[in-house]
Amino acid sequence: MSLKIALMPGDGIGPEVTDEAVRILTNVAEHAGRSFTFSTHAIGGAAIDTAGRGLPERTLEAALNADAVLLGAVGHPKFDGQKTAERPEAALLALRQALGGFANLRPAVCYPPLARRTAFQPERVKGASVLIVRELLGGLYFGEPRGFEASGNTAFNTLIYSRHEIERVAKVGFERARERRKKVASIDKANVLETSRLWRAVVSDVAKGYPDVELEHVYVDTAAMRLATAPASFDVMLCDNLFGDILSDQAASIAGSLGLLPSATVGGKVDLYEPVHGSAPDIAGKGLANPIGAIASAAMLLRFSARMDKEAGDIDHAIEDALAAGARTRDLAGPGERVLSTREMGQAIEEALNEVRDRKHCYHGV
Ligand code: NAD
Repeated sequence: MSLKIALMPGDGIGPEVTDEAVRILTNVAEHAGRSFTFSTHAIGGAAIDTAGRGLPERTLEAALNADAVLLGAVGHPKFDGQKTAERPEAALLALRQALGGFANLRPAVCYPPLARRTAFQPERVKGASVLIVRELLGGLYFGEPRGFEASGNTAFNTLIYSRHEIERVAKVGFERARERRKKVASIDKANVLETSRLWRAVVSDVAKGYPDVELEHVYVDTAAMRLATAPASFDVMLCDNLFGDILSDQAASIAGSLGLLPSATVGGKVDLYEPVHGSAPDIAGKGLANPIGAIASAAMLLRFSARMDKEAGDIDHAIEDALAAGARTRDLAGPGERVLSTREMGQAIEEALNEVRDRKHCYHGV
């Protein structure tokens, strides 16, 4: 059966990096004998320009009828003066809400050939591969009541979690850990917060269903320090909405460039895959964007929405091989290194992917 993928390239560098993700998905489909159907839809500033609104009805309908959505990025400086609700970014929030994903997955990997580029000492990040699983629909960002008191001098928010909300995201964390190094670090502040005590109790209950996965509870402040000093000690980090928001950005610095980071939002009606970066108007249309975040997002799509684990793993290897062979977009290049365009980086990864497959073929054929 064909896998229906709704493409939403969006604005700025979004279309450029999405093209390269499609290149890789098309290659995979051809070699795996699978059929992928792509349809392209406007979102963000591109949709405001052509259809008068950031999330046109037909774009939303296409997303809801797809097996997966692959998004580029939204946002353009020309909308900066607009009211929040009329900006391209509002369309992405509305799409995420309509799809209803409750778990945001953000892997951060230190690719060995780039270890020198990270914000950390190379020997600290060596071997680091962290997956942040962040609860996305609850907690402090959505709790009611919230607001300002009449004086304007006092403001308040509500941190609230139910057993159900914690249970469902914890299951995603443990399932993902099973596919990785079988370790979950559950992040909380149980020494201070009641919600964290509930979080800890529920995660411990869920862990009983996953005896093969090792669970540790880590206070968020300790986690932040450990992420900076010994990131390789983490596998899956299971976080509530607030802690996940902060720690996922911290984890991102392991990789060395914003352009490398993929994400997936799962658990709703349709899963959504997108690179972490924005539309980067400063480099849009110049062929300077790094497509690896988008390509790695496509690999996540294969893993979670198509159950094509082997092919997803091959893409991960191909990215690493291309980097090891010296492929660099401008954000990754050191002095004197040759800079590839967005398309050339996509081509380099496609060639590396073909080689990964050939190598496996030879190995199995011997
Ligand atoms: P940004 O992520 O677009 O860019 C930040 C910096 O990183 C820029 O210098 C940019 O050139 C660089 N960069 C980003 N992606 C890159 C890539 N793939 N390759 C090489 N360099 C890359 O963030 P910003 O500048 O704060 O925001 C620009 C616009 O994007 C704004 O309108 C913002 O609201 C929007 N935005 C959208 C998303 C999204 O669509 N998910 C996320 C963040 C920001």
